[in-house]
Amino acid sequence: MSKPKSKSSPPELNPRTTKYEFLGPPGAFLISFGVPSLIYALYYGCSEESGGCPPPGLTLSSITSTLAALPTHASLLLSSSFWTATLPKVWSSIHDTNATLAYLAWYTFCVVAWAVLPGSQVSGTLIRDGTTKSYKINAFSTFLLALGLTTGVLFQQGPGGFTFLYEHWVGFVTASIGMSIVQAIGVYLWSFRDGALLAMGGNSGNTLYDWYIGRELNPSIWGFDIKTFNELRPGLILWVLVDISMICEQAVRRGGWAGVTDSMWLVALFQIGYVADGLFNEPAILTTMDITTDGFGFMLAVGDLAWVPFVYSLQARYLVFHPVELGPIATALIVAVNATGYWIFREANSSKNDFRNGKDTRGLAYLTTASGSKLITSGWWGRSRHPNYFGDLLMALAWSLPTGFDTPITYFYVTYFAVLLIHRQRRDDAHCEKKYGKDWETYKKMVPYRIIPYVY
Ligand code: NDP
Repeated sequence: MSKPKSKSSPPELNPRTTKYEFLGPPGAFLISFGVPSLIYALYYGCSEESGGCPPPGLTLSSITSTLAALPTHASLLLSSSFWTATLPKVWSSIHDTNATLAYLAWYTFCVVAWAVLPGSQVSGTLIRDGTTKSYKINAFSTFLLALGLTTGVLFQQGPGGFTFLYEHWVGFVTASIGMSIVQAIGVYLWSFRDGALLAMGGNSGNTLYDWYIGRELNPSIWGFDIKTFNELRPGLILWVLVDISMICEQAVRRGGWAGVTDSMWLVALFQIGYVADGLFNEPAILTTMDITTDGFGFMLAVGDLAWVPFVYSLQARYLVFHPVELGPIATALIVAVNATGYWIFREANSSKNDFRNGKDTRGLAYLTTASGSKLITSGWWGRSRHPNYFGDLLMALAWSLPTGFDTPITYFYVTYFAVLLIHRQRRDDAHCEKKYGKDWETYKKMVPYRIIPYVY
């Protein structure tokens, strides 16, 4: 059933995936269930009622004993009356029609902006079927339009006019998760058409796994590339709008704009700057693993649409009901951490892009591999094999520090991000080892550190 029949995609172009990642189907099941659950858990944990801290009774031993007791409650869990009584209650606490409609309007706005705003066409990297895809570059203008419209609302109505996202947070979470599920099902089914080019890692034949990891490499409809669109627009720009909504909520609670704390401004400005930078450098995404290697499935959909806007903004959410005044010294130190991270991140990513697309080699030393690709061996890429991850991690730390040290929840992002990047670096290392063989071994000897120069 997964064998393409079309002449344009011969079977050898879509070989069967023989090696699972993320622990295979059980891992796919756990992550597909666990990620949405975690987004809700973080929302309830980072709320005014909980004070932004896990409930006092929630300890490791309480979780373990609850889990251990589950089998004794199995008969209850298996009874249909339990579910018919419980599910409607759960659904009514997480579903919100106004938020769903607003989310759909937002998603439609992003699609329409992609279609109508002018943008240059940029080619992606060479795909293994010998073609390249053309992408419309207008994410930054979509961002500016969204910011312009938001500013218009703020001028007209003041901060009180933009607190909707704070008030309807959980409803938006549900809407964005729903959108991810629907899209992942849609692209999975669509990938069985003739001629679809599948992701090398997404053609295992196991429905759950392929749906999760992404079966088709670049699903698109009439030139609209679903993967790059979701990566950069509806989730990433929504993250900025969520942050703005948190500033507004704090302003309303603290008597106007002047009451907004320095910590809130720092978090919001760092994160808005990070998003603006990503959108401004939109073509850089075309050489990332997500675009060149991974298929589009639930993993990317839920990450792009739900995880990014509603987990990455938790620090700002926390500061709404737990305002922190940093003062000039702490502010300056945190700005320095963020600036250092940004400098490394941007230097590393730009120098690799400029080097690879032949724009500017910057006099960097390199190793020419048997495949013809060149691996940079000096500058940041000579200090570690993923200096861009190091810069990103420093920035993540700078976004958590303004919240102080009263709660672990605002440090969830930097902790999770470290785990994600350590795992991602290992995935990329395995990919490069397969691609470059002995040359990669030579490169590893020249650049022994994985992420943090001279440390890891
Ligand atoms: P990278 O941009 O780091 O690209 C890795 C690829 O670069 C490798 O597969 C290889 O590809 C090539 N490469 C490796 N070493 C060298 C070298 N020495 N010289 C030249 N090319 C080399 O991958 P990512 O997509 O993981 O990261 C892009 C950015 O996105 C990073 O800054 C990362 O921190 C960020 N990111 C952010 C996330 C978030 O949630 N905020 C999530 C994930 C990433 P090739 O086959 O072409 O040689």
